[in-house]
Amino acid sequence: ASYSRIAATDASIQAFLTLNEEGARAAAAEFDGALTAGGELGLLFGLPAGIKDNIVTEGLLTTCASQFLRNYDPIYSATVVKKLKSAQTVTIGKLNMDEFAMGGSNENSSFYPTRNPWNTDYVPGGSSGGSAASVAAGQVYFSLGSDTGGSIRQPAAYCGIVGLKPTYGLVSRYGLVAFASSLDQIGPLTKNVEDSAYVLQAIAGYDANDSTSANVDIPDYVSALTGDVKGLRIGVPKEYLGQGIDPKVKEAVIAALKQFESLGATWEEVSLPHTEYAVATYYLLASSEASSNLARFDGVRYGVRAENPDNLLELYRKSRSQGFGSEVKRRIMLGTYALSSGYYDAYYLKAQKVRTLIKQDFDNVFKDFDLIIGPTAPTPAFRIGEQVGDPLTMYLNDICTIPVSLAGIPAISVPCGFADGLPIGLQIIGKAFDERTVLRAAHAFE
Ligand code: GLN
Repeated sequence: ASYSRIAATDASIQAFLTLNEEGARAAAAEFDGALTAGGELGLLFGLPAGIKDNIVTEGLLTTCASQFLRNYDPIYSATVVKKLKSAQTVTIGKLNMDEFAMGGSNENSSFYPTRNPWNTDYVPGGSSGGSAASVAAGQVYFSLGSDTGGSIRQPAAYCGIVGLKPTYGLVSRYGLVAFASSLDQIGPLTKNVEDSAYVLQAIAGYDANDSTSANVDIPDYVSALTGDVKGLRIGVPKEYLGQGIDPKVKEAVIAALKQFESLGATWEEVSLPHTEYAVATYYLLASSEASSNLARFDGVRYGVRAENPDNLLELYRKSRSQGFGSEVKRRIMLGTYALSSGYYDAYYLKAQKVRTLIKQDFDNVFKDFDLIIGPTAPTPAFRIGEQVGDPLTMYLNDICTIPVSLAGIPAISVPCGFADGLPIGLQIIGKAFDERTVLRAAHAFE
């Protein structure tokens, strides 16, 4: 059913980069066989899943939507992929994204842009745009994405589905091609909150292969979905509903808060005073980490190698010039500059300090509140091509998701209405490792 749905819809959506039909049929037969032989039923038995193309899959191309890795056939699978296999999901294929997860519209894919299933003239968001569009179009039951500054939550909002960014360290990053290692997290994109809880259950947990993996007990997420939010205290940051927020988005968020009120929760305006510095801080830190992480793509170790270089330096230069797209080059240059001697203290070190202040803003609010709620993105999806020439405007779309990433805390985007036929997302933010409360509130609301 998944493949026939893809055949019927993907010419216009373009969510997939690689399909895995043979592998999927073999896996399905294997799980079936195991069950018939008296084996245990996997937590996600038989569910067709799509995987973002920056998560490595053994024997299945993993391109990061980059020309650099167009031939990269990994020799191992990411921890999350192994965990999904033991939960008995079937990998349908690999999903389109912004190159190396840098972007918020899918237009930075070096292959083709994915389109929003609600209106194919619009972007699906990004960078996990293929992951969001494939779930919204009913091609897969759920997908995995990665979120560094909003890349699960924002495309989920634009495509009218549920996207969860777990607490930093809850889900292993082993086998996720690194963009900004101190921010990257893998999470589920699903049609509803219950599915999100199930997929999180399957992928969360300590992994010795990831040095930043958190060694914490994994609670039962599904049992948190009680429908009861009575007495929950919600803080609503005034910075998330001010300048630059589309009035229709604001209206939808206020309506959602009223719904929480009618369910017995309370809400109050709060302040996260360093929000105005978050975008600048993020783009310095993420670009710095990216410039370091992407140094491994040198034409020698992975992917495509430039032809006929005169010498070694020329090999690096040519491979990188040919392999990376312009947004990736922009980030590498920005990051290299911010890390260079003489500028490090002024940019990188300063940004690290501001990151701490942003985290403290959240800590202060969470002394008195259980959750923070606001929009996921300032506007609904925009037209394909509308913002490509203007990276700064594109960066400002991340204003509501980036602070959460810098603080390392969990947040979910759930649909909360429409503006001109395009979905709007509500962002529910929780304390570190308190995914249960985040999921409970999201479930009671949806
Ligand atoms: N849009 C942000 C960026 O371009 C976030 C990307 C992400 O979360 N991977 O960096």
